[in-house]
Amino acid sequence: MNLKTLFFLILIVGSACFAAAQSKYAIVIHGGAGVMSEERMSKEQQNEYKAKLNEALELGEKMLKEGAEATDIVVRVINVLEDSPLFNAGKGAVFTHDEKVELDASIMDGKTLNAGAVAGVRNIKNPISAAREVMLNSEHVFLSGKGASEFAKKRGLEMVPNKYFHTQARHESLMKLKKQERERNQKDYTGTVGCAVLDIHGNICAGTSTGGMTNKKYGRIGDSPIIGAGTYANNKTCAVSCTGHGEYFIRLGFARDISALMEYKNMSVTEACREEIRKLAELNGTGGVIALDANGNIAMEFNTSGMFRGYIKSTGEKEIAIFK
Ligand code: ASP
Repeated sequence: MNLKTLFFLILIVGSACFAAAQSKYAIVIHGGAGVMSEERMSKEQQNEYKAKLNEALELGEKMLKEGAEATDIVVRVINVLEDSPLFNAGKGAVFTHDEKVELDASIMDGKTLNAGAVAGVRNIKNPISAAREVMLNSEHVFLSGKGASEFAKKRGLEMVPNKYFHTQARHESLMKLKKQERERNQKDYTGTVGCAVLDIHGNICAGTSTGGMTNKKYGRIGDSPIIGAGTYANNKTCAVSCTGHGEYFIRLGFARDISALMEYKNMSVTEACREEIRKLAELNGTGGVIALDANGNIAMEFNTSGMFRGYIKSTGEKEIAIFK
C-alpha cells in the first residue's frame, strides 16, 4: 500500500467514526417513583403504564433520528406523559388540599445552561411547554402562579380550566389522605414525569413536570421546578430529572450535586446517582432519579420499591420497567 492509499483509508475510517459519534443518541424517562408492588398492580395496569412509556420513548427516538434538538425532544416527550391521566403531571395530576390542581415544571439545556421553570400554575395545559417558553422567550428563569399563566397565554400556549386536570382516582386519594390528615400517600404512585436526552448533535437536556404531592397546602412547591434540585443539565457532566419527596431533594440540591460529583470527583453518572440516593436515604428521604451523560451512559436509581422508567439508546439497547 502506498502512502496516498493509506492517507485515503485513514480519511474514510476517520469520517465514518466521526459520523458514528455524531449520530449517537440516548433518551431516558421516568413516570414517578413510589411504593409499588407487583401483587397490587394488575397485569393490565402494568401494561397500560408500559405502553404509555413506550409511546413517549418511541416518539423521542423518532425525533432523535430526524436530528431534532434535545430541548424540543424533552418537551414533546413530556407532553405525551402530561396528556395521559396515568401520571401525576398535566391531566391526572394530584389534588391540593383545596381540591385544585397546581402544577410545577422545569427544563434545562446542557449546551447553554439556559433554564426555565413554572410553579403553582392552574390553567396551563402543558406546564413543561411553559417552562420552555420561560427559558427561550423571557429574561427570567422561574415564574409562578398567575404571572406564569399570563405569560404562557401571551406566548400562545393552550389554556384550560382547572377541571380539565381532574380525575376521579386522584380525587379519591385526596379524600383518603384528608381523613388521615396526611400529605401524600406512600401507596399511591406519585407519577411525576421526567426526561433526559442526548441528541445527535452531542447536546443534553433534562425536564421534569409534576402536580406535586397530594393534599399539599399553602402554595407548597416541591423540587421539580427548582433548577439544581429536581432538574439539572450541563453538557460537561449530565442531564438529570428527579422524582420523590421533594423537600429532601431541595435540601440536598440533588440534581446539581450529581453534576458536581461528576465534575469535581470524576464519578461516572451511575456512581454519582447512587451516591446521591445514599445521601437521600441517610435523611430518610425516598425517591428516584434518571440521568445520562454526553456519551449516552444512562442511570436509573431509586430507593423505593418501584419507579416507572425506560430508555432507548442508538446502540439498540432498550428497557421499560416498573419494579425494582
Ligand atoms: N418531587 C415531586 C414533589 O415533591 C413529587 C414526586 O416526584 O413524586 O413535588
